[in-house]
Amino acid sequence: MRPLVADIDLAALCHNYRHACACAPQSRSVAIIKADAYGHGAIECAKALVGEAPAFGVACIEEALALRQAGIDTPIVLLEGIFSADELALVDEHGFWIAVHSAWQVEALLSFAPHRPIPVWLKVDSGMHRLGFAPEEIESLWARLSQAPQVGELVLMSHFASADASDSGYFEIQLQRIVALAHALKAPLSIANSPATLAWPVAHGDWNRPGIMLYGSDPLEVANASSRDLRPVMTLRSQVIALRDLAAGEPVGYAGRWRAPRPSRIAVVAAGYGDGYDRHAQDGTPVLVDGQRCTIAGKVSMDMLTVDVTDLPEVRIGSEVVLWGRAANGTVLSVDEVANGCDTISYTLLTGILPRVPRRYLSNDQA
Ligand SMILES: *Cc1c(COP(=O)(O)O)cnc(C)c1O
Repeated sequence: MRPLVADIDLAALCHNYRHACACAPQSRSVAIIKADAYGHGAIECAKALVGEAPAFGVACIEEALALRQAGIDTPIVLLEGIFSADELALVDEHGFWIAVHSAWQVEALLSFAPHRPIPVWLKVDSGMHRLGFAPEEIESLWARLSQAPQVGELVLMSHFASADASDSGYFEIQLQRIVALAHALKAPLSIANSPATLAWPVAHGDWNRPGIMLYGSDPLEVANASSRDLRPVMTLRSQVIALRDLAAGEPVGYAGRWRAPRPSRIAVVAAGYGDGYDRHAQDGTPVLVDGQRCTIAGKVSMDMLTVDVTDLPEVRIGSEVVLWGRAANGTVLSVDEVANGCDTISYTLLTGILPRVPRRYLSNDQA
């Protein structure tokens, strides 16, 4: 069998979730598991967090229904609400909570007759300028929704454009706008994503919404003591399938991007962009071989990539390769470092791992 596998450490997921809660003891934390739990498998991750997380957050009703069909009856927030009015019947049937960010959603909700009031998270655009109502519109909407029989618990929500940055200027502007509104309306508040959960206690609300940190990626531009406690959840693991020795000056792979600067040994690894490993990985992107750091040498192919192992004479065919995560010897290569080498962010790497790569779940006892 092809050795490439994504090991998912559910104990690490629970650790990171508890860490998010410990960072914000006054808040309840919605575990964000949209996009198949950032590529980790939403059903398995939700099952690991059932009984801990008071609610899950997903992008759309399809993702929420898949969780219900798997037997998960925890509340689920649809972070973008409904995409068409006919979804309200399913929202009602399954007890989903909905974000409301647009006038048509308000009208659809207020002309619907649910069996029980639907919890609503009213979204204000505090400066991200993507979804949500302008701050000036909120007061009248809040009044309307809080009187409507269709509406259950009402929460004011917003999303930060730059809570991860070391320069907090725009973050503070957004925070001021939303906090002023929440005070005026005495509204329960939900604004903190992962970076705000880790670094901005002032942004902790009644409900926080940690996502990427649950998977062990550090969302902060500059790590802090708290973000360093996160544990990687996914280990993308493979093996060396071939080795070759090259004379100085010989090229490796497509277009010969990498050229041996000295007599070199190259390990060929079973993992490529056809698995979701980023083709933009530059020479020098880190990889662990037998738990030791080496670097990508040459362009990533569809099913393979090549690593310079000249300084590791012990490497054999079958040697363990970790593209990110934790090696057998305990060494960790963070997905954030790999993302740097690919000029991207951990979110795209994790959500990009394709179904071709089998997920292997390590439960609490095994991990
Ligand atoms: C994805 C998402 C989050 C989680 O963001 P992270 O940066 O992964 O913590 C929070 N809130 C909303 C509305 C989201 O869409």
